[in-house]
Amino acid sequence: MLTERAIEKYILEKEPYYLPVGNEIELFTAAYQAKLPVMLKGPTGCGKTRFVEHMAWRFKRPLVTVACHEDLSATDLVGRYLLEGEETVWHDGPLTLAVKHGAMCYLDEVVEARKDTLVLIHPLTDDRRILPVEKRRVVLEAPDEFQFVISYNPGYQSVLKDLKQSTRQRFVAIEFDYPPFDIEVAIVAHEGQVDESTARDLVTIGQKVRNLRGHGLEEGVSTRLLVYAAQLIRGGISPVSACTVAIVNPITDDRDLQRSIQEIVTTVI
Ligand code: ADP
Repeated sequence: MLTERAIEKYILEKEPYYLPVGNEIELFTAAYQAKLPVMLKGPTGCGKTRFVEHMAWRFKRPLVTVACHEDLSATDLVGRYLLEGEETVWHDGPLTLAVKHGAMCYLDEVVEARKDTLVLIHPLTDDRRILPVEKRRVVLEAPDEFQFVISYNPGYQSVLKDLKQSTRQRFVAIEFDYPPFDIEVAIVAHEGQVDESTARDLVTIGQKVRNLRGHGLEEGVSTRLLVYAAQLIRGGISPVSACTVAIVNPITDDRDLQRSIQEIVTTVI
């Protein structure tokens, strides 16, 4: 009964706002129907998480999200026995919970997880679709509605942090990038609750800053940061200050680069 209630908080009641950029909704739907696990590739803050939320809502599945990090163990994902008073009580981990309830399970930034943790997901991501819960000596079979999704940012790729072929070749991969100009303007206007002309200025700044990629800037400014700038403007902060704290300062510590980005801001606004 505990798990019955535990899953309830993962159900999305309201439609998450998502503007499609290409045919990602059709692709994901086909993968879901074919019971294929999906990998979303792309830079941070470009809409991957929002897309998964939207798809979970479309399919009326609970969404269980796990932010991966290097200490994430197989036990964290599957579950553990915990001492409660005199008793030891089993607590499902997020993956077990998702499998049991035919949820959508989203592992965010999967490269951050340890390799031995990732091995655990292998039997779930091929046609066996099973999750061995060793501590309980049971093997759970994923129901048809269960969907496995991971996200991955190839920009951070290094020899140490790369997905092994044996893991990556278990997924179909949908590539994400920053949305095209007009779509990003609509997103920033909607999410930041600003008028279209303010959103246009912010997206123009975003596009110019993205051109600095490869010139010392590791990654361009995300849609998320443009939305933050819009929200600050909406809250009464001057556009230049909003861009300084939401765009210039977060993306680099390099003073020269910060100056170049600040110049972009002042020429556009
Ligand atoms: P990621 O998971 O790729 O790091 P998010 O999905 O969290 O990024 O996106 C960051 C923010 O950008 C979202 O909260 C949302 O406000 C906005 N966003 C980005 N792309 C879209 C889109 N296509 N439709 C609606 N909102 C979007």
